[in-house]
Parts: sequence; structure tokens; C-alpha cells
Amino acid sequence: MTTTELKEQYFKFFEDRGHSRLPSYPLIPENDPTALFTTAGMHPLIPYLMGENHPAGTRLVDVQKCIRTGDIDEVGDDTHLTLLEMLGNWSLGDYYKKEAIEWSFEFLTQELKISVEKIYITCFEGDQDVPRDEESAQIWQEKGILADHIFFLGKKDNFWGPVGQEGPCGPDTEIFYYVGQGEWNGSTCPGDDSGDFVEIWNNVFMGYQRKAGREPGQFEYLEMKQKNVDTGMGVERAVAVLDGYSDVYRIDSIWELVETVMNVLKVPEGDFEEFYQDHKKSLRILVDHLRAATFILGDERGVTPSNLDQGYILRRLIRRAVRHAKKLEIPQDVCISSYLGKATIDLMSGSYPELERNRKFIIDELFKEEEKFEKTLERGLKEFEKLERVTGQDAFMLFSTYGFPLELTEELSEDKGLKIDKLAFAEEFKKHQDLSRKGGEKRFKGGLGDDSEMSKKYHTATHLLHQALKEVLGDHVEQKGSNITAERLRFDFSHPEKLTDEEKQKVEELVNQKISEALPITIEELTVDEAKASGAIGLFSDRYGDKVKVYSMGEYSKEICGGPHVKNTKDLGKFKIKKEKASSSGVRRIKAILE
Ligand code: ATP
Ligand code: MG
Repeated sequence: MTTTELKEQYFKFFEDRGHSRLPSYPLIPENDPTALFTTAGMHPLIPYLMGENHPAGTRLVDVQKCIRTGDIDEVGDDTHLTLLEMLGNWSLGDYYKKEAIEWSFEFLTQELKISVEKIYITCFEGDQDVPRDEESAQIWQEKGILADHIFFLGKKDNFWGPVGQEGPCGPDTEIFYYVGQGEWNGSTCPGDDSGDFVEIWNNVFMGYQRKAGREPGQFEYLEMKQKNVDTGMGVERAVAVLDGYSDVYRIDSIWELVETVMNVLKVPEGDFEEFYQDHKKSLRILVDHLRAATFILGDERGVTPSNLDQGYILRRLIRRAVRHAKKLEIPQDVCISSYLGKATIDLMSGSYPELERNRKFIIDELFKEEEKFEKTLERGLKEFEKLERVTGQDAFMLFSTYGFPLELTEELSEDKGLKIDKLAFAEEFKKHQDLSRKGGEKRFKGGLGDDSEMSKKYHTATHLLHQALKEVLGDHVEQKGSNITAERLRFDFSHPEKLTDEEKQKVEELVNQKISEALPITIEELTVDEAKASGAIGLFSDRYGDKVKVYSMGEYSKEICGGPHVKNTKDLGKFKIKKEKASSSGVRRIKAILE
């Protein structure tokens, strides 16, 4: 069976049952700065799962391209890919457990003709938050699933979500396919690490909403008025088991990539099987990572390899792949990245036309990144060879000078049986990872993704700027947005027209005056009402929770904020406005630096 056949069958089945088909959303979430990539079919649908009306109705079906960075370490095993296609059917407050389970059962046994003997099920065993899901188990049994094929597991296995700390979540029921040797003897169970079962489909019954409780780390589970169904079927896994494999690399559209590599290596066709068995791990990582990289590059957002956010994931995928290409002894003159990029586009652009549209961009970027890495890889490896143990600084040096991502150094160390100072290693890298993550977090928290000394300074300077703008331009000035990096601050505020040079100069002078006054910065925790009464400015929205932090810069500025800040304004240096321009209608944007 091909992936296209499975997808078409799935769409037809659910369209016949009143579902509207949606297109695949981008890999890079549009409006969710908390996540670098779309990780599941439900991810782009969160607003609708939260109750917003979907224009296409209450029954939806689609296939979503997903990237799971959390699974990168698993890649090399039989079932985890970095890029996967996920089929899903949804009920937005429409049908619930009964229909969902019955249709899953019918699709598997009647459409795909899987024998019930092969199907195993897990359900949620219940805990203090949410009761045991007997109902689902019973529906499965009524349809014909054997009683001893149904297992109850805890929250770790059979409860889904929420995506962040809060949000929709609920018990799920997972469908496994038995791939073990001979008949099942009862000693293994779905979800264990025996390898006897492959999870192919998950039905989530999103009937709860998790909310932060009064104590930190404590949560409440509230039953939702609108109960939803969210399902996810891994296309690659489903096709693999239907073809009789537990190995996802055996499906047509991935095996061709494995063959592409073996052809480059001039492995005789008769030896493919043996070669694959002997070099499984490197072949799988090489193919998986470049397949994922091709999709990231092909997404309309146009991400390129870098040391930040999605670009950093992309860089790591390509570099790790290139390293495994070396292990496989791919000849120096072959650019394996663009080779596999082309092959991936040829195989997948039928379903994902954006790959074809961006063909040149994808191939060029793969080529450039591989070339860039090639230049330093050999020298870096030489440097690595000299090491007898790998300190945090060594690992950091390999990263910053030779562009070795963390896992590459880790893998090299493992191969050589070298001891690594993991703790120091992690610390050095954390600095970089914080940097690479901060973009995403900052967008969300309004400037607080990173708490380096420099960003603290910019944050404090933002308060002074805010107050100075109010004084110079008038009380109508309100913060509309803020974004801080270690290099500059950016502040958006309401004001109808361009600032004159004189106004800009006044603002600058005022801020610098307050810096030179060496105002101490103090913090109080107040309720929202107390904060308002105290005259604090800032965004008084509910999202701050019951208590808010109010920062004061001497007597000059008092503002609600999450922090962190420096202790005294004298630490800030010289404040300078670099740019002032329109951000949107009625909103101006200032970029400023500290010198
Ligand atoms: P596992 O425990 O095997 O990692 P999961 O619990 O993370 O799976 P879900 O989040 O429920 O999986 O995702 C829905 C479906 O997507 C799974 O049933 C599976 O078929 C598929 N899937 C999940 N992760 C991967 C992956 N890394 N590669 C391929 N398919 C996957
Ligand atoms: Mg998983």
C-alpha cells in the first residue's frame, strides 16, 4: 500500500461520515510562538478545540505534516521519524467516544481489512484528576476487540495534553498493531519496550481543560462544555504494518531514499538487504534527517539554517546527517544533502506542492549548509581526535569554532568511548540553547525570553522609555508591544504621528538623566487592584494571575512587569534611539540601544 492510497481511503471514509476535508497547515505554526513546529494534527486546530467556530463545520478530517524535535533522539529505531504525516478526524463538540471508536474500528477492520487478532488497545486507568475510562473499553469490546487485548494504563501513556501548562486535554485510547514473532504469549503489552506492538492511531477525548491551581505546579481539571474528539494516525507507521513491516523505513516513499543512498554507495542491488541490516542506524538517520530538513526548507516560511529557533533545528538535522554520510563513506564529491533533498521532493511533492514550488531554494540551502559544514568538519574532527576527555569548554569550542552541534560531539565521544563532563557540557550549551530559544519565547512573553545581563538592562531601560514617552508626548502613550534581545530594545506604543527630532531628543535626554540619577529598582507583589490604586502603569490583563509584580525605578516609574531587571539605573550605560517609525496605524515603534 502507498501512503497516498491510505490517505485517500481515510478521507473518503470520513467524508462519507460528514467530515469536511482541510488542507495541511504549515510546519511552522502561524500564531503559536510557544512551539517551533507543528507537532500534531490537532496543533493548528487548538482555537477551534477551545470553542471557536470552525467555518468548515464540526466534523473535520485532514493530513498534517508534523515535525517532532522531541523524537530526534529516537530516530534510528523502527518507528520514530522526525517528519511524519498524521491523519486525523475531529469532532468539535459533535460526536464523542461511541462514534469515534466505532469508526476507528470499522476503518481498521473493514476498510484496511486488519484482523481483530492483530489489534490491541489501551485506555486510561484513571487517577485523582480524571476517572477511569471504562466507557471506551466497553465500546471496543462490543465492536469485537478481545477482552485480553485491552489494557489500562496511567496518565503518562493514556492521557493527552495540554500542549503547554494549560489548555484542552483528556484521556485517550490508543490502537496498537501486533508485530511480534508468532502468537502473542501474554508476557508483553502495548506501550512496553518489547517491540511487539506498534502504536498506529490515537483517539483523544478532549473533555477537560487543565488550569493552573493556587499552588505552583498544582493543576485543576475542569470538564469542558464542548467535548471534542481529536485523533491522530501516523501514516508511515500504518502503511508499514499493513505491508507487514514494523520498520517505517520500509514504506515506498522512504525506502526509495534508503535505496538512493545505497546507489550512491554503489552497493549491488543483491546486497541491499545485508547492507541495510549492517548500517541501519546511519542509513536511517541520514534519510530521516534530510527528509525532515527538506520539508522545513520547503515550508512557506522560508527558514534557513542558523543558530536560532527553527533554523537551528534545521542546521542540526543537516549536520548530523552529513556526519552519518561520512560514516557510511559517501564519497567526498557527492553532496548527499541535495541528492536526498531532490529525491524527497520528487517523492512527496504530489501531496505537498510547496516542495516543488520551493525546489531551487531547498536544494541551494542544503548544498550551502553541507558545504559550510564540510569546510570545518575535517578540522573539527582533527581537533576532537586530540582530546582525551571532553570538557564543557571543549564541546563549546567544537560548537563555536567548528559548528559541531551538541549531539554530534556527544556521538563522537560515545564512538570513541570517551568520557564527557556532561554537566559542564550541558551548562556551556545551555547558554547557546537559551539564545536559540529566546526568539520564540520572547515573542510570547513580550521580551522576556532570556535573562542575560544585557537583556535585563534593556528591560529596565524600556520602563524608563515608557515613562519618558508619556511625559514628553502625553498620557495617551500606551505600550503596544515590546521585544528585547541582548543587542537592542524595541518598543511599540500608541501615538498618532511621527516623533519630531526635538521630541526624540527630549525622550533620550530624559532617559539618560534618570540613568544618571542612579535610581534604585525595587519590586513589590500586589494584587491587580492594589497595583492600579498605586498608580502603576502597564498591561492590566487577567493573564498576570492574581498577584502581579510591580517594579519601581525610584519615584520615577512604576510599572507592572514580569522582570527581571538590574538593581540600579546607573548600570544601564548611555541610552540612544536608533530608529523611530510607524509600526501599524496609530502605533509607533522605537528601536534603541544602550552604549
Ligand atoms: P510513541 O509513544 O510511539 O512515540 P506518541 O504517543 O508520541 O507515539 P501520538 O502523539 O499519539 O504518538 O501521535 C499520534 C500517532 O502519530 C501515533 O499513533 C503514531 O502512529 C504517530 N507517531 C507519533 N510519533 C511518531 C514519530 N516520531 N514517527 C512516526 N510516527 C509517529
Ligand atoms: Mg512520542
